[in-house]
Amino acid sequence: MRVRMLERTLRPPQPRRGHRRRGGLIALLLLSPGWLIMEWIVPRIMAQQSPSVGQVAPGLSPPPQKYCPVMTSEEIDPETSPRVTYDGVTIYLCCDQCVTKFRRDPAAYLDPKLIPALQGKKLPPRGLEQVYCPVLRDRKVSSKDPFTIYKGVKIYFYNDLARQRFEKDPERYADPTILPQLRMPTKNGPLLSVFTTYSCST
Ligand SMILES: [Zn+2]
Repeated sequence: MRVRMLERTLRPPQPRRGHRRRGGLIALLLLSPGWLIMEWIVPRIMAQQSPSVGQVAPGLSPPPQKYCPVMTSEEIDPETSPRVTYDGVTIYLCCDQCVTKFRRDPAAYLDPKLIPALQGKKLPPRGLEQVYCPVLRDRKVSSKDPFTIYKGVKIYFYNDLARQRFEKDPERYADPTILPQLRMPTKNGPLLSVFTTYSCST
């Protein structure tokens, strides 16, 4: 025993290396349950909770659609509401007018938050950055809807009546949180807000 200890003190590099190796092994053993959880258990739980692209985990169907994807605060009724089919998914709309709008430009309304069955599907990009009408703020717009030019950018509306209301009092409705195009850089420089004016001091 004493001899071995003496050996250790005399030859410090090897025992230390061996010690480190042993420590590494212990660390590996201690980490392995963590590794097991991260590499094996977690992905399986995740796969059960959120189906990967294009798949629905067996036995789990997405929650039912509750609201119209065009007039987003209108509830739909799976028994009576008009419907369309997109990529094998039945999409309910609150009225025939919304069906017409949807058919004209489906990409504008394919929102998995409102239509859970679309989750994981590859969806065409939305043509417009603007999502909601600035006058009827719960209704979505598409590039086929009426528009006006305001501050050099196109503003879309749910219908002509909404457009007319905006044109009568644009300051009231020109909300950059609803109208991202009003926040986009223009040739005069970035506009943080439509009401902000910039002066050049140089
Ligand atoms: Zn509707």
